Amino acid sequence: MKYQIAVIPGDGIGPEVITEALKALHAVGRLFGHEFVCTTVLMGGCAIDACGEPLPEATLKVCRQSDSVLLGAVGGLKWDTLPGHQRPEAALLRIRAELGVYANLRPAIVFPQLIDASPLRPEIIGNNLDVLIVRELTGGIYFGKRGRTADGTGAFDTEYYTVPEIERILKIGFVAARGRKKHLTVVDKANVLESSRLWREVAIRMAKEYPDVKTDYMYVDNCAMQLVRNPTQFDVLVTSNMFGDILSDEASMITGSIGMLASASLGDGKCGLYEPIHGSAPDIAGKGKANPLATILSVAMMLRHSFHLEREAVAVENAVRTVLDRGARTADIAGRAVATVGTREMGQLVTDAIVC
Ligand code: NAD
Repeated sequence: MKYQIAVIPGDGIGPEVITEALKALHAVGRLFGHEFVCTTVLMGGCAIDACGEPLPEATLKVCRQSDSVLLGAVGGLKWDTLPGHQRPEAALLRIRAELGVYANLRPAIVFPQLIDASPLRPEIIGNNLDVLIVRELTGGIYFGKRGRTADGTGAFDTEYYTVPEIERILKIGFVAARGRKKHLTVVDKANVLESSRLWREVAIRMAKEYPDVKTDYMYVDNCAMQLVRNPTQFDVLVTSNMFGDILSDEASMITGSIGMLASASLGDGKCGLYEPIHGSAPDIAGKGKANPLATILSVAMMLRHSFHLEREAVAVENAVRTVLDRGARTADIAGRAVATVGTREMGQLVTDAIVC
């Protein structure tokens, strides 16, 4: 089979981790007999420099025509002083909205080999910690009305959700839980926010349609605390755009590093968007230190969710496990390891470990 993929390396460590992820992808293609046709396009700060805008129309066109999109990361100090709508991060929000990818799946999995890289004690992490965060991605405060008061002394952002937006993301959460340990935690701030009260009402109503799923409700501040107190109590968390953004960064550290967390953004259309949850990491960009595993694991998610190539996805995930078993560690997941490998070496080790 032939698959068209739009590739957005972006800024900072984005191109470094994407190079390694593409090596793994093409190794899968060779081994399993698929052709992955990749078209590299500009987005973020590099697009501002080249075309004067963070998300050029040509990039959107290629993405819309592709079967899926693989993204590194965007942003950096150089563009931080631009007005909000011209910044690289504005392109992230727009591409998600343009592709209609409203459901962001972020699996926080602790590989047993990395237990000593986590800041939490092994008895807190337990065996095989596996939490799926389902984050709403195209609504809420990141997309609501925002502005400054006329005199410049105040500013506002608006959390706004409609019932259909809440229903469709909750459905993803319930269905995901049904395929796992059948436990869904709806995370909100219903003790304060009206939008959260609507989330909870909709969730309570929908839970009746999923009697096999144990559904509970938790305030986001408690959830942030529970994630470090007792993360094994969770199976699937479903939450709004901003809460999911923050909680998944927190969950990433439980796994050892933000460099380990992959994500898939899905909608009702055919095109999914796959990216590591981390940013462009300007502090380590160009130093060959970035952990490429989150991006490589995002490729596995792409193979599974967009192309329905389960065997191939598992082959990539197993290769990551094999390499970790053999003791290879980038600096961020070094734990007690004395020797570390760089971005390229880690990418090559995973690529070489992919087998049919
Ligand atoms: P960041 O995720 O880029 O970095 C946070 C910390 O994690 C840094 O210390 C960094 O070195 C480390 N880190 C991140 N990825 C790593 C990896 N793969 N391997 C090893 N260490 C890694 O977050 P930030 O510093 O808050 O943001 C930097 C820039 O990235 C900003 O411009 C921000 O807006 C942007 N950003 C982009 C995205 C995206 O493109 N999806 C997401 C978040 C932040």
